[in-house]
Amino acid sequence: MGTDYDIVVLGAGPAGLTAGIYAARARRSVLVLDTGTVGGQTVLSYQVANYPGVAETSGRELSRAMAEQARAFGCDIKAFARVADVELRGEVKVVTMRDGARFRSRAVIVASGGVPRKLGVEGEETFVGQGISYCATCDGDFFTGRPIAVIGGGNSALEESVALSRYASHITVIHEFDHFQAEPWVVAEAQSNPRTSFLMNQRVLGFTGVKGLEEVRSVDKATGVVTRTTVDGCFVFIGYVPNSGAFEGQMELNERGEVVTDEALRTSLPGVFAAGDVRHKRVRQITTAVADGTVAALSALEYLSGAAA
Ligand SMILES: Cc1cc2nc3c(=O)[nH]c(=O)nc-3n(C[C@H](O)[C@H](O)[C@H](O)COP(=O)(O)OP(=O)(O)OC[C@H]3O[C@@H](n4cnc5c(N)ncnc54)[C@H](O)[C@@H]3O)c2cc1C
Repeated sequence: MGTDYDIVVLGAGPAGLTAGIYAARARRSVLVLDTGTVGGQTVLSYQVANYPGVAETSGRELSRAMAEQARAFGCDIKAFARVADVELRGEVKVVTMRDGARFRSRAVIVASGGVPRKLGVEGEETFVGQGISYCATCDGDFFTGRPIAVIGGGNSALEESVALSRYASHITVIHEFDHFQAEPWVVAEAQSNPRTSFLMNQRVLGFTGVKGLEEVRSVDKATGVVTRTTVDGCFVFIGYVPNSGAFEGQMELNERGEVVTDEALRTSLPGVFAAGDVRHKRVRQITTAVADGTVAALSALEYLSGAAA
């Protein structure tokens, strides 16, 4: 059982769907497999206002349109695919499903994205997209003139707190240690911001609110004093987890588990390319995922035609 394709794409987020559009439009047979829902992280975005040419949409709607476009070019898309094993090392790549079906291809594009690291505390899941965000570039604007909290104390948390100060009326940075793990100049910039205050040595206990997020509860790890911070929004920046576990030991990953690629988005394995948030990169946005999907598909097409070095 199973089918042979020219290209199998793992992941149906914006990177994988774009790769599907380009590869299918080039008349290659393409299967896009997703272990979850079509759209990836974009379905968490109830409002996308920074995708060029589309003044405002939802992540779900944007990815539905991308999937429709890919299908119109003949791309097969399977969501909630029960992938059991992925073998990428041979010349023929094999994806085995739990029911025993096998999909073979000469090229694979890994576009499995990632997930922002979560706090795992009470109320977090409830308020995702309703006050809690993991992306300042995406959602900062929605909190213009309103008080917010930023959780974290590394470079991204403090850099994003500075970026968010363009919008928010006040920012409370809540951090688990009594010192920051960021570059000194980043710390200095955040600390000199008149609209930012800091709650150090805190363990976040949970989030509450009736009409959306209203309060972040945290406890001082030394004194046990509980603080309730009144906010309309909260941005969590405590790391990022790439969905690369299935490829560990097969291709080069960096110390954070991100797939290492070159400029053509080739991985360390011939015939395997990586696109989007799963790979080592600085900016994780829909636009950059779409750009990666394009480059990876064109590189895969070049590989299949034997033109690649
Ligand atoms: C809450 C939130 C809001 C955001 N808002 C915006 C915004 O407004 N604007 C913006 O530009 N960006 C936004 N982003 C960032 C943007 O969504 C991501 O950068 C983008 O979705 C990355 O696309 P991707 O295709 O690389 O990965 P993803 O979107 O993560 O998609 C990867 C897909 O791969 C699947 N998958 C995982 N493992 C496997 C496997 N082994 N085999 C097959 N499939 C697999 C997953 O189920 C997923 O569907 C937001 C992110 C979050 C979390």
